[in-house]
Amino acid sequence: MMYADVDVTGHLSGVNSQKLNESIIQVSRLFELILDSNIREEVNVVFLSDHGMASVSDTNIINITSVVDMSLITDIMEAGPLTYIYPRSGKENEPKTLKGLLQFKAHHGYDNAEKDMRGIFSAIGPDFKTQLTVPPIKMVDVYQLICHVTGIHPNPHNGTWAHVQSMLRDNHQVHVDL
Ligand SMILES: [Zn+2]
Repeated sequence: MMYADVDVTGHLSGVNSQKLNESIIQVSRLFELILDSNIREEVNVVFLSDHGMASVSDTNIINITSVVDMSLITDIMEAGPLTYIYPRSGKENEPKTLKGLLQFKAHHGYDNAEKDMRGIFSAIGPDFKTQLTVPPIKMVDVYQLICHVTGIHPNPHNGTWAHVQSMLRDNHQVHVDL
């Protein structure tokens, strides 16, 4: 189940906004319902986000026309923290990458080494140990974990088993990475 409201509200209202807090509380209530039910004894539930989010300020806008010769480009497309600039034919060897932040109060898509870009991960159920905190894992580590607890043989992937095995009660790797 994908719950997009936290992401949308974060973009529009900012990471420290009351609206985002309310959205997080709504999702938390859903998670609490799961935790309070008997389902936790029978079903593995993984609760995660696919990214973090950082505040942006409309005072940090870069005016593209002040740093790019507009006669060299055909189009500009804003896509989150990055802006795509399409050069005219024959001008492709003059690329520029600029941070472009327009109507949103928060964004993701920055360097994933930034702590603000980290997501959350929590799991509960018969295959997972309880009361355990593990070091940060990478998004590519999740796939093998889901395959393991659902008994699905994984396709080749970039996850590292050592990153997730300590979470599992039975942590020998049933499915070998290909
Ligand atoms: Zn988003």
